[in-house]
Amino acid sequence: MENCIKKHILSIASEADVESYPDHLTEFTVPKLLENIDAPKEEIIKEVNDLEKSGKLIMKSPYLTMVCPSCGSPDPFSKMVCPKCGSQNLKVEGTGVECRNCGLHTSVQEALTFVCKTCGKSFGLGNAKWIALGSLSSRGAVDVEPISRAIMDLGFYPKRCQTIRGASGVNHHYDFAFEHDGSLRVVDVRVDVKGVNISELIEFLSKVFDSGIKEAYFIAVPKLNLSINAGKNNVKVIEAPDLEKASELLKHILTERGISSKIVH
Ligand SMILES: [Zn+2]
Ligand SMILES: [Zn+2]
Repeated sequence: MENCIKKHILSIASEADVESYPDHLTEFTVPKLLENIDAPKEEIIKEVNDLEKSGKLIMKSPYLTMVCPSCGSPDPFSKMVCPKCGSQNLKVEGTGVECRNCGLHTSVQEALTFVCKTCGKSFGLGNAKWIALGSLSSRGAVDVEPISRAIMDLGFYPKRCQTIRGASGVNHHYDFAFEHDGSLRVVDVRVDVKGVNISELIEFLSKVFDSGIKEAYFIAVPKLNLSINAGKNNVKVIEAPDLEKASELLKHILTERGISSKIVH
């Protein structure tokens, strides 16, 4: 699952930067990724964090946003309050503040109070929490979007990171999956400049078998490191020099097999 989610995050963020927004449950959220990847939000956010730490995902033009230290909600409102008596009847002079109620002399920093619009708790500058937001980019990552577009061009909505429980009880993950005539078609994409290792195909064949999939596509870019006859005709191996070419081939094969929701007789 991990590899599949990471692959799609990097691919989506390599086409166009992905904006992050504050979120009280997971600190930040990335709606574009959540809409496109079929995995729980927490898992996607965790992978984004991982990818950022490893430098594969880069936060461009980051900025800090203040969030409530209690509940994590953004955009608290601010007011000036006397830290001693709580009065808002203050006289501000430069960076100094004088309380008209109790006479306390203090600084603007000390009197500045933030109030959370969600949970109502108030907090000072000293205990405010800050999170970094910005647009996430993964320039140079493997971009599997052409495959996604090829499937969409035929009128399907491909699910990313589809999980299928096999007959053996093991959960298998597929890069893309879509339904046609009530049965699921799956697509896995492997890219390796030195040639995709044959063991990847063997693993694919066994998980397709275990999942009981009737039709599966294995895309190897630019090619497999060994030429074999995949044998089973429910698995189609597509070798192509790049992903654009691979997506054309996939579209061509699917169309030839009559797998399109757009064909009108
Ligand atoms: Zn006061
Ligand atoms: Zn709050």
